[in-house]
Amino acid sequence: MLIRIPLLNPFETSFGRTSVKEAVIVRLDSGDSQAYGECTAEREPYYSYEFNSMSWKVISDLILPMLAGAEISSPLDFGTLTHRVRGHSMSKGAVEMALWDLFCRSAGMPLHRAIGGVRKRIECGISIGIQDSVDTLISTIARSLDQGYRRIKIKVKPGWDTEVLERVRTEFPDIPLQVDANAAYSLHSIRTLKDMDRFNLTMIEQPLDYDDLLEHSILQRRIRTPICLDESIKGDESVKLMHRLGSGRVVNIKAGRVGGIAGSLSVHDTAMERNIPVWIGGMLETGIGRSFNVALNTLPDVRFPGDTSPSSRYFRRDIIVEPFEMDSKGRMPVPSKNGSGIEVDERELERWTAKRKILKLS
Ligand SMILES: [Mg+2]
Repeated sequence: MLIRIPLLNPFETSFGRTSVKEAVIVRLDSGDSQAYGECTAEREPYYSYEFNSMSWKVISDLILPMLAGAEISSPLDFGTLTHRVRGHSMSKGAVEMALWDLFCRSAGMPLHRAIGGVRKRIECGISIGIQDSVDTLISTIARSLDQGYRRIKIKVKPGWDTEVLERVRTEFPDIPLQVDANAAYSLHSIRTLKDMDRFNLTMIEQPLDYDDLLEHSILQRRIRTPICLDESIKGDESVKLMHRLGSGRVVNIKAGRVGGIAGSLSVHDTAMERNIPVWIGGMLETGIGRSFNVALNTLPDVRFPGDTSPSSRYFRRDIIVEPFEMDSKGRMPVPSKNGSGIEVDERELERWTAKRKILKLS
């Protein structure tokens, strides 16, 4: 189904402002079990070339029919079954994650255990969008620290960068702080990017083009701040290239961007073998997508708090029965129930559903 839920607060990045979360939700029914996955594409192709009306088509016309009648003994079979479709990682990821949920539920196992997670609670970070004024940003950061968040990430873009950071560092000299540019700069801005070194940032996320590895390697040689790649990491091959070229020192894993859980695990393992730390990014997911991010946060090479915030950061009421909550120290318990560990609130889901389609696969 396609859902549209209002966000509590609009979220602004270097490519625009979002006030409604729109997502394609996949539900797989098998016997008595129901499993869910969420596509992380957006309404428009700004973060990625994928976008919801296209994902709707790819999922219902291509991906789901490929599963029809197939003997699937493990969610790891998904990659082979859908190999013919090139790209479309977010569309594939939505179905693949639902498949993991289904398998873990029927195997009586929580997802985090199935993927080799090593912790029972995770550390939460917050990603703060571009604000109307620096004063609003400062008060948002102060409130987030009071709430317990363990790291602050702020979105930057040309014109909203070093001056803003100067104010932030004056107010909060020692907090773990990182910035995310969502590919808003080019090497022409190297002076601004070099200038960011004086703010002692944990990392700068995706400063250059969304597909680039080469220019990031040039930039990383010129700046002290570690570069973290998000958009540029499409799978484990990108991690190998990044490492070989020296394009960055940290990887942001977003399950949708790398095709789901199996893709996330291979990016994670490839990074860990090369001693590259990772953390788990976010796409303003509902509780369904969030549950997979929580499980991925338990992996051993996750060495920074990510973008996984409690449900109440985004929605007045999440579409799951027990929303994700964070304690005053910025930690979130990992659900111990089977599968993704959540129970979908069918009524809430129904309330925000704009369109649905039912396919019979067997
Ligand atoms: Mg990012």
